[in-house]
Amino acid sequence: MIATSLSINKVEKSKVSELDFDNIPFGRAFTDHIYIADYANGQWSDFRIEPFANFSIHPANIAWHYGQAIFEGMKATKSINGEPMLFRPEMHAKRINRSAVRMSMPEFPEDAFKEAVYEMVKLEQNWIPEKEGSALYIRPYMIAMDEFIGVQVAQSYRFVIFCCPVGPYYSKALKLKAETKFIRAAQGGTGYAKAAGNYAGSLYPTKLAKDEGFDQILWLDAKEFKYAQEVGTMNIFFVIDDTVITPSTDDGTILEGITRNSLIAILKEKNIKIEERPITIEEIMQAGKNGSLKEVFGAGTAAVIATVKAIGYNDDMVSVNPDEFKIAPMLKDTLNGIRSTRLEDTFGWTVKVV
Ligand SMILES: *Cc1c(COP(=O)(O)O)cnc(C)c1O
Repeated sequence: MIATSLSINKVEKSKVSELDFDNIPFGRAFTDHIYIADYANGQWSDFRIEPFANFSIHPANIAWHYGQAIFEGMKATKSINGEPMLFRPEMHAKRINRSAVRMSMPEFPEDAFKEAVYEMVKLEQNWIPEKEGSALYIRPYMIAMDEFIGVQVAQSYRFVIFCCPVGPYYSKALKLKAETKFIRAAQGGTGYAKAAGNYAGSLYPTKLAKDEGFDQILWLDAKEFKYAQEVGTMNIFFVIDDTVITPSTDDGTILEGITRNSLIAILKEKNIKIEERPITIEEIMQAGKNGSLKEVFGAGTAAVIATVKAIGYNDDMVSVNPDEFKIAPMLKDTLNGIRSTRLEDTFGWTVKVV
């Protein structure tokens, strides 16, 4: 499936034998190759896969000053027969372009995106850990490359993909702070884009929350500090009585997670009630107090699902018991099972790389 004039320069010897697959440090082990494409004079060119190496950047690189930088995060897994597979790559190809448009960056052709991840995974397939829940994490990103100081839309860009093998992500149950002072995203802002700056702005409030004994922030809307948005790099789900509720994404403040989208589809298929709607922190706290709040969990590519055990809001705190969760473990098992071909992929989400 060659969409571009992709040139591939392979390493002479893979470093994969140096990796201890039973102890993979998350995000710190890198595979043999890197994919790069450059944009200048209004078009993408020089599509290439090269041995993984540093590249040099001009000290005035405009992205470092004014923040034109976006990214994606996706996973490749192996089927039970050892075939590499991608999960919903077309969704990631589309989403990076929604981010690009918002940050006034050039779109990267969807075919070239799919070809790039496909060829990278084909080349790096020996790096895909086989244990269920493990994966090859794929990080596509785009940065502006102009060597120029001045706030303006850059003329040159670089699109890059590197890969990190990752083990199963064991997250302890989280204690969330519903944040009432700082915001992550406002209507009209960049919340729906996977843009680097969104994360930079979240670090300081998260540090303060950690100092108070929380693990992560449950972001509330910027206007009234009333509606739940999301958590860190995860969308948030609540189970109240027998209904699953996740905040609707139509006001542009919430990142439209592909995990979120997949969980909603699984819930619908299993005839579990799922509502995408605004949900207030008051409703969550009340449900926590009257016992109708059964489960709270975050959903994203890295963790798949991270359970939540408590939510603090002003001087109030409600708890749930992750050991009693039923829907969250079912969803995690279903998604991991589809990704490992242990379960049939009735949705057509997985794409074999052959
Ligand atoms: C990436 C991300 C998510 C989760 O998206 P997935 O496609 O499921 O990985 C949720 N929220 C934020 C802010 C994110 O950056």
